[in-house]
Amino acid sequence: MDTPTPARESVDPVIRPILDLDGALPVAFDRSFDAPTPADRLRQVKRAAHALRERLLSGPRVRYYGTFDLIRAPYPTRYALRDATWVPTPFVHIVNRLFVIQFNTPEGVKTLLAEPLDREGNAQTPFFKRLGDSLGGADGPLGRRLYPPLGDVLALLRALGIAPEDVAYITYDHLHTQDIRKWLGTGDRPGAFPNAKLLVMREEWDIARDPLPIQRDWYPPQGIAGVPAERVILLDHSVTLGDGVALVRTPGHTDGNHSIVAHTAEGLFVTSENGVGADAYAPTKSRIPGLRRYAKDTGMEVVLNGNTLEGSTEQYLSMILERELAGASVRNPDFYNIANSSEMSADWRSPGLDPTFTFGPLAFGTPVTRGGVAHGAAR
Ligand SMILES: [Zn+2]
Repeated sequence: MDTPTPARESVDPVIRPILDLDGALPVAFDRSFDAPTPADRLRQVKRAAHALRERLLSGPRVRYYGTFDLIRAPYPTRYALRDATWVPTPFVHIVNRLFVIQFNTPEGVKTLLAEPLDREGNAQTPFFKRLGDSLGGADGPLGRRLYPPLGDVLALLRALGIAPEDVAYITYDHLHTQDIRKWLGTGDRPGAFPNAKLLVMREEWDIARDPLPIQRDWYPPQGIAGVPAERVILLDHSVTLGDGVALVRTPGHTDGNHSIVAHTAEGLFVTSENGVGADAYAPTKSRIPGLRRYAKDTGMEVVLNGNTLEGSTEQYLSMILERELAGASVRNPDFYNIANSSEMSADWRSPGLDPTFTFGPLAFGTPVTRGGVAHGAAR
Protein backbone atom coordinates (compact mmCIF):
# COMPACT_ATOMS: atom_id res chain seq x y z
CA MET A 1 0.00 0.00 0.00
CA ASP A 2 1.31 3.43 -0.90
CA THR A 3 0.90 5.33 2.35
CA PRO A 4 2.91 8.42 3.25
CA THR A 5 4.75 8.30 6.57
CA PRO A 6 2.49 9.82 9.21
CA ALA A 7 3.77 12.31 11.74
CA ARG A 8 5.56 11.22 14.89
CA GLU A 9 4.39 11.89 18.42
CA SER A 10 6.55 15.04 18.76
CA VAL A 11 4.09 17.05 16.63
CA ASP A 12 1.63 17.39 19.52
CA PRO A 13 2.67 18.94 22.87
CA VAL A 14 -0.13 17.05 24.70
CA ILE A 15 1.64 13.76 23.94
CA ARG A 16 4.55 13.17 26.33
CA PRO A 17 6.75 10.08 25.97
CA ILE A 18 7.37 8.07 29.17
CA LEU A 19 11.05 7.64 28.45
CA ASP A 20 12.42 6.57 31.82
CA LEU A 21 10.18 3.52 32.16
CA ASP A 22 9.98 2.34 28.59
CA GLY A 23 13.16 0.30 28.77
CA ALA A 24 11.72 -1.79 31.59
CA LEU A 25 8.32 -2.37 30.00
CA PRO A 26 7.65 -5.20 27.55
CA VAL A 27 8.80 -4.00 24.15
CA ALA A 28 8.83 -6.50 21.31
CA PHE A 29 12.32 -7.27 20.08
CA ASP A 30 13.90 -4.71 22.42
CA ARG A 31 16.78 -6.27 24.32
CA SER A 32 18.10 -3.04 25.79
CA PHE A 33 16.89 -3.77 29.32
CA ASP A 34 19.14 -5.26 31.93
CA ALA A 35 17.39 -8.57 32.64
CA PRO A 36 19.41 -11.73 31.98
CA THR A 37 16.58 -14.27 32.33
CA PRO A 38 12.86 -14.24 31.52
CA ALA A 39 12.05 -14.42 35.24
CA ASP A 40 14.27 -11.36 35.82
CA ARG A 41 12.32 -9.60 33.11
CA LEU A 42 9.05 -10.47 34.84
CA ARG A 43 10.31 -8.97 38.10
CA GLN A 44 11.50 -5.88 36.24
CA VAL A 45 8.12 -5.51 34.54
CA LYS A 46 6.35 -5.69 37.90
CA ARG A 47 8.65 -3.03 39.38
CA ALA A 48 8.11 -0.77 36.37
CA ALA A 49 4.35 -1.26 36.58
CA HIS A 50 4.30 -0.34 40.27
CA ALA A 51 6.41 2.77 39.64
CA LEU A 52 4.15 3.93 36.84
CA ARG A 53 1.08 3.15 38.93
CA GLU A 54 2.34 5.33 41.80
CA ARG A 55 3.17 8.13 39.41
CA LEU A 56 -0.23 8.12 37.73
CA LEU A 57 -2.16 7.75 41.01
CA SER A 58 -0.29 10.71 42.52
CA GLY A 59 -1.41 12.89 39.60
CA PRO A 60 -4.83 14.29 38.66
CA ARG A 61 -7.80 12.25 37.47
CA VAL A 62 -9.53 12.44 34.14
CA ARG A 63 -12.58 14.70 33.93
CA TYR A 64 -14.90 12.07 32.51
CA TYR A 65 -14.66 8.34 31.77
CA GLY A 66 -17.57 6.43 30.28
CA THR A 67 -17.82 3.06 28.53
CA PHE A 68 -20.70 1.96 26.30
CA ASP A 69 -21.75 -1.32 24.69
CA LEU A 70 -21.39 -1.35 20.89
CA ILE A 71 -21.69 -4.95 19.71
CA ARG A 72 -21.86 -8.47 21.09
CA ALA A 73 -20.00 -11.09 19.07
CA PRO A 74 -19.19 -14.79 19.27
CA TYR A 75 -15.50 -15.58 19.67
CA PRO A 76 -13.92 -19.04 19.65
CA THR A 77 -13.36 -20.43 23.13
CA ARG A 78 -10.09 -21.95 21.93
CA TYR A 79 -8.78 -18.40 21.37
CA ALA A 80 -10.42 -16.70 24.35
CA LEU A 81 -9.30 -19.20 26.98
CA ARG A 82 -6.96 -21.46 24.98
CA ASP A 83 -6.40 -24.75 26.78
CA ALA A 84 -7.28 -23.42 30.23
CA THR A 85 -10.88 -24.61 30.12
CA TRP A 86 -12.30 -28.02 29.24
CA VAL A 87 -15.84 -26.75 28.60
CA PRO A 88 -16.76 -27.94 25.08
CA THR A 89 -18.89 -24.88 24.21
CA PRO A 90 -17.23 -23.65 20.99
CA PHE A 91 -17.86 -19.92 21.41
CA VAL A 92 -17.69 -17.42 24.25
CA HIS A 93 -19.40 -14.04 23.78
CA ILE A 94 -17.55 -10.74 23.93
CA VAL A 95 -18.96 -7.22 24.18
CA ASN A 96 -17.03 -4.52 22.35
CA ARG A 97 -17.27 -1.17 24.09
CA LEU A 98 -16.62 2.47 23.30
CA PHE A 99 -14.51 4.38 25.84
CA VAL A 100 -15.09 8.13 26.08
CA ILE A 101 -12.33 9.82 28.07
CA GLN A 102 -12.05 13.56 28.68
CA PHE A 103 -9.07 15.11 30.43
CA ASN A 104 -7.38 18.44 31.12
CA THR A 105 -4.35 19.52 29.13
CA PRO A 106 -2.44 22.82 28.90
CA GLU A 107 -4.46 23.35 25.71
CA GLY A 108 -7.85 22.85 27.38
CA VAL A 109 -10.08 19.81 27.82
CA LYS A 110 -9.47 17.10 25.22
CA THR A 111 -11.76 14.23 24.25
CA LEU A 112 -10.28 10.81 23.46
CA LEU A 113 -12.41 8.01 22.02
CA ALA A 114 -10.93 4.59 22.53
CA GLU A 115 -12.23 1.67 20.44
CA PRO A 116 -14.84 3.48 18.28
CA LEU A 117 -16.03 0.58 16.16
CA ASP A 118 -17.67 0.83 12.75
CA ARG A 119 -20.02 -2.17 12.66
CA GLU A 120 -20.08 -2.40 8.87
CA GLY A 121 -16.31 -2.15 8.52
CA ASN A 122 -15.88 -4.60 11.39
CA ALA A 123 -17.96 -7.21 9.51
CA GLN A 124 -15.39 -7.10 6.68
CA THR A 125 -12.74 -8.62 8.96
CA PRO A 126 -11.94 -11.86 7.06
CA PHE A 127 -12.41 -14.10 10.12
CA PHE A 128 -15.78 -12.59 11.05
CA LYS A 129 -16.89 -12.33 7.44
CA ARG A 130 -16.56 -16.10 7.05
CA LEU A 131 -18.37 -16.61 10.35
CA GLY A 132 -21.14 -14.18 9.33
CA ASP A 133 -21.50 -15.70 5.86
CA SER A 134 -22.71 -18.91 7.48
CA LEU A 135 -25.63 -16.83 8.85
CA GLY A 136 -26.29 -15.12 5.51
CA GLY A 137 -24.04 -12.17 6.34
CA ALA A 138 -23.47 -10.30 9.61
CA ASP A 139 -25.97 -7.65 8.47
CA GLY A 140 -28.44 -10.12 6.97
CA PRO A 141 -31.81 -10.62 8.70
CA LEU A 142 -30.58 -13.58 10.76
CA GLY A 143 -27.25 -11.96 11.64
CA ARG A 144 -28.96 -8.79 12.80
CA ARG A 145 -31.53 -10.73 14.79
CA LEU A 146 -28.95 -12.87 16.54
CA TYR A 147 -26.52 -9.99 17.05
CA PRO A 148 -28.40 -6.67 17.04
CA PRO A 149 -26.25 -3.55 17.44
CA LEU A 150 -26.10 -2.51 21.10
CA GLY A 151 -24.99 1.06 20.54
CA ASP A 152 -23.90 3.53 17.88
CA VAL A 153 -20.82 5.70 18.37
CA LEU A 154 -22.28 8.92 16.93
CA ALA A 155 -25.62 8.52 18.71
CA LEU A 156 -23.84 7.85 22.02
CA LEU A 157 -21.74 11.00 21.64
CA ARG A 158 -24.84 13.01 20.77
CA ALA A 159 -26.54 11.76 23.92
CA LEU A 160 -23.51 12.85 25.95
CA GLY A 161 -23.58 16.31 24.35
CA ILE A 162 -20.13 15.90 22.80
CA ALA A 163 -19.81 17.40 19.30
CA PRO A 164 -17.93 15.37 16.66
CA GLU A 165 -15.61 18.37 16.10
CA ASP A 166 -14.53 18.16 19.74
CA VAL A 167 -13.07 14.67 19.42
CA ALA A 168 -9.31 15.34 19.49
CA TYR A 169 -8.02 11.77 19.41
CA ILE A 170 -9.12 8.26 18.67
CA THR A 171 -7.13 5.20 19.61
CA TYR A 172 -7.43 1.40 19.65
CA ASP A 173 -5.43 -0.99 21.77
CA HIS A 174 -4.70 -2.60 18.38
CA LEU A 175 -6.31 -2.45 14.93
CA HIS A 176 -7.87 -5.93 14.70
CA THR A 177 -11.37 -5.67 13.14
CA GLN A 178 -11.15 -1.85 12.91
CA ASP A 179 -12.09 0.25 9.89
CA ILE A 180 -11.10 3.83 10.71
CA ARG A 181 -12.19 5.48 7.44
CA LYS A 182 -15.66 6.36 8.74
CA TRP A 183 -14.10 8.43 11.53
CA LEU A 184 -11.05 9.99 9.84
CA GLY A 185 -12.18 10.07 6.23
CA THR A 186 -10.27 9.37 3.05
CA GLY A 187 -9.10 11.65 0.25
CA ASP A 188 -12.57 11.92 -1.29
CA ARG A 189 -14.80 11.32 1.73
CA PRO A 190 -14.83 13.44 4.92
CA GLY A 191 -14.71 11.61 8.25
CA ALA A 192 -17.23 11.88 11.08
CA PHE A 193 -14.58 13.49 13.35
CA PRO A 194 -13.08 16.39 11.38
CA ASN A 195 -10.42 17.24 13.97
CA ALA A 196 -9.51 13.82 15.38
CA LYS A 197 -6.14 12.16 15.03
CA LEU A 198 -5.44 8.47 15.40
CA LEU A 199 -2.87 7.58 18.06
CA VAL A 200 -1.30 4.27 17.12
CA MET A 201 1.97 2.46 17.79
CA ARG A 202 4.20 2.45 14.75
CA GLU A 203 4.35 -1.37 14.69
CA GLU A 204 0.56 -1.66 14.66
CA TRP A 205 0.20 0.80 11.79
CA ASP A 206 2.78 -1.14 9.80
CA ILE A 207 0.97 -4.44 10.40
CA ALA A 208 -2.34 -2.94 9.25
CA ARG A 209 -0.63 -1.54 6.14
CA ASP A 210 0.76 -4.83 4.97
CA PRO A 211 0.17 -7.85 7.20
CA LEU A 212 1.47 -11.40 6.90
CA PRO A 213 -1.06 -14.21 6.45
CA ILE A 214 -0.75 -15.04 10.18
CA GLN A 215 -2.03 -11.50 10.91
CA ARG A 216 -4.27 -10.78 7.92
CA ASP A 217 -7.37 -12.69 9.01
CA TRP A 218 -8.07 -10.06 11.68
CA TYR A 219 -7.61 -6.82 9.72
CA PRO A 220 -10.38 -5.52 7.40
CA PRO A 221 -8.60 -5.32 4.02
CA GLN A 222 -9.52 -1.66 3.45
CA GLY A 223 -9.55 -0.61 7.12
CA ILE A 224 -6.97 2.20 6.83
CA ALA A 225 -6.88 2.65 3.05
CA GLY A 226 -6.70 6.26 1.92
CA VAL A 227 -6.74 7.81 5.42
CA PRO A 228 -4.75 11.07 5.12
CA ALA A 229 -1.32 10.88 6.75
CA GLU A 230 -1.91 14.09 8.70
CA ARG A 231 -4.71 12.36 10.60
CA VAL A 232 -2.36 9.74 12.06
CA ILE A 233 0.21 10.13 14.84
CA LEU A 234 2.64 7.24 15.12
CA LEU A 235 3.88 6.50 18.63
CA ASP A 236 7.35 5.13 19.30
CA HIS A 237 7.00 5.06 23.09
CA SER A 238 4.51 4.70 25.86
CA VAL A 239 3.05 8.18 26.38
CA THR A 240 0.95 10.26 28.73
CA LEU A 241 -1.83 12.47 27.39
CA GLY A 242 -2.63 15.44 29.58
CA ASP A 243 -3.99 14.76 33.08
CA GLY A 244 -4.76 11.18 33.99
CA VAL A 245 -4.32 9.28 30.70
CA ALA A 246 -1.50 7.05 29.46
CA LEU A 247 -1.05 4.77 26.48
CA VAL A 248 1.37 2.03 27.51
CA ARG A 249 3.10 -0.36 25.15
CA THR A 250 1.86 -3.89 25.83
CA PRO A 251 2.90 -6.01 22.83
CA GLY A 252 1.87 -9.62 22.58
CA HIS A 253 -1.66 -9.99 21.29
CA THR A 254 -0.17 -7.98 18.42
CA ASP A 255 3.34 -6.56 18.14
CA GLY A 256 1.91 -3.04 18.11
CA ASN A 257 -0.51 -3.49 21.00
CA HIS A 258 -0.92 -0.79 23.65
CA SER A 259 -3.09 -0.39 26.75
CA ILE A 260 -5.24 2.63 27.49
CA VAL A 261 -4.86 3.73 31.12
CA ALA A 262 -7.14 6.28 32.82
CA HIS A 263 -7.10 7.61 36.38
CA THR A 264 -10.67 7.60 37.72
CA ALA A 265 -12.42 7.82 41.07
CA GLU A 266 -12.03 4.01 41.25
CA GLY A 267 -8.31 4.08 40.55
CA LEU A 268 -6.55 3.25 37.32
CA PHE A 269 -8.54 1.45 34.65
CA VAL A 270 -6.48 -0.43 32.07
CA THR A 271 -7.87 -1.48 28.69
CA SER A 272 -6.59 -3.91 26.07
CA GLU A 273 -7.41 -7.27 24.55
CA ASN A 274 -4.38 -9.22 25.71
CA GLY A 275 -6.93 -11.02 27.87
CA VAL A 276 -10.70 -11.32 27.33
CA GLY A 277 -11.96 -10.52 30.80
CA ALA A 278 -11.39 -10.46 34.55
CA ASP A 279 -11.07 -14.26 34.76
CA ALA A 280 -8.15 -14.23 32.34
CA TYR A 281 -6.16 -11.93 34.63
CA ALA A 282 -6.94 -13.86 37.82
CA PRO A 283 -7.42 -17.52 36.86
CA THR A 284 -6.85 -18.69 40.45
CA LYS A 285 -10.06 -16.86 41.43
CA SER A 286 -12.09 -17.99 38.43
CA ARG A 287 -15.13 -20.24 38.61
CA ILE A 288 -14.96 -21.03 34.88
CA PRO A 289 -14.32 -24.79 34.82
CA GLY A 290 -10.64 -25.56 34.35
CA LEU A 291 -9.03 -22.17 34.94
CA ARG A 292 -7.98 -22.68 38.56
CA ARG A 293 -6.56 -26.09 37.78
CA TYR A 294 -4.73 -24.72 34.74
CA ALA A 295 -3.16 -21.94 36.81
CA LYS A 296 -2.20 -24.39 39.57
CA ASP A 297 -0.76 -27.01 37.23
CA THR A 298 1.22 -24.64 35.03
CA GLY A 299 2.00 -21.72 37.34
CA MET A 300 0.55 -19.37 34.70
CA GLU A 301 -0.63 -16.18 36.39
CA VAL A 302 -2.82 -15.18 33.42
CA VAL A 303 -4.62 -16.76 30.45
CA LEU A 304 -3.61 -15.32 27.07
CA ASN A 305 -6.13 -14.29 24.43
CA GLY A 306 -4.62 -16.38 21.68
CA ASN A 307 -6.09 -15.86 18.22
CA THR A 308 -2.77 -14.73 16.78
CA LEU A 309 -0.15 -15.17 19.50
CA GLU A 310 2.17 -12.78 17.73
CA GLY A 311 4.44 -12.84 20.75
CA SER A 312 3.26 -15.08 23.55
CA THR A 313 6.13 -14.32 25.95
CA GLU A 314 5.64 -10.59 25.42
CA GLN A 315 1.90 -11.07 25.90
CA TYR A 316 2.41 -12.87 29.18
CA LEU A 317 4.67 -10.05 30.44
CA SER A 318 2.26 -7.43 29.12
CA MET A 319 -0.70 -8.98 30.94
CA ILE A 320 1.25 -9.02 34.19
CA LEU A 321 2.16 -5.40 33.55
CA GLU A 322 -1.49 -4.54 32.94
CA ARG A 323 -2.78 -6.14 36.09
CA GLU A 324 -0.01 -4.74 38.32
CA LEU A 325 -0.64 -1.31 36.86
CA ALA A 326 -4.40 -1.63 37.34
CA GLY A 327 -4.31 -3.02 40.89
CA ALA A 328 -7.23 -4.74 42.59
CA SER A 329 -10.77 -3.64 41.83
CA VAL A 330 -12.63 -1.94 44.68
CA ARG A 331 -15.74 -3.77 43.41
CA ASN A 332 -14.20 -7.18 43.95
CA PRO A 333 -10.62 -7.35 45.24
CA ASP A 334 -10.21 -10.86 43.82
CA PHE A 335 -10.05 -9.25 40.38
CA TYR A 336 -8.08 -6.47 38.73
CA ASN A 337 -9.17 -3.05 37.45
CA ILE A 338 -8.94 -4.12 33.84
CA ALA A 339 -11.81 -2.98 31.61
CA ASN A 340 -11.15 -5.06 28.53
CA SER A 341 -12.03 -3.63 25.14
CA SER A 342 -13.76 -6.95 24.33
CA GLU A 343 -15.14 -8.15 27.64
CA MET A 344 -16.24 -11.75 27.86
CA SER A 345 -19.82 -11.74 29.11
CA ALA A 346 -22.49 -14.27 30.04
CA ASP A 347 -24.69 -15.38 27.16
CA TRP A 348 -27.30 -18.13 26.83
CA ARG A 349 -25.46 -19.35 23.73
CA SER A 350 -22.30 -19.98 25.75
CA PRO A 351 -23.36 -22.46 28.46
CA GLY A 352 -20.76 -23.25 31.11
CA LEU A 353 -18.71 -20.16 30.31
CA ASP A 354 -20.19 -17.45 32.53
CA PRO A 355 -17.44 -15.10 33.67
CA THR A 356 -16.93 -14.93 37.44
CA PHE A 357 -16.78 -11.13 37.44
CA THR A 358 -17.45 -8.41 34.85
CA PHE A 359 -17.36 -4.63 34.88
CA GLY A 360 -20.04 -3.92 32.31
CA PRO A 361 -20.48 -0.26 31.30
CA LEU A 362 -18.68 2.25 33.55
CA ALA A 363 -19.14 5.99 34.19
CA PHE A 364 -17.12 8.44 36.28
CA GLY A 365 -17.53 12.21 36.30
CA THR A 366 -19.70 14.38 34.09
CA PRO A 367 -19.22 14.77 30.33
CA VAL A 368 -17.64 18.10 29.42
CA THR A 369 -19.80 19.61 26.69
CA ARG A 370 -19.17 22.54 24.39
CA GLY A 371 -21.82 24.65 26.08
CA GLY A 372 -20.61 23.62 29.52
CA VAL A 373 -18.88 26.19 31.71
CA ALA A 374 -15.81 24.03 32.25
CA HIS A 375 -15.18 23.39 28.61
CA GLY A 376 -15.88 26.99 27.64
CA ALA A 377 -13.41 28.25 30.22
CA ALA A 378 -10.73 25.84 29.14
CA ARG A 379 -10.90 26.58 25.46
ZN1 LIG B 1 -7.33 -8.70 18.55
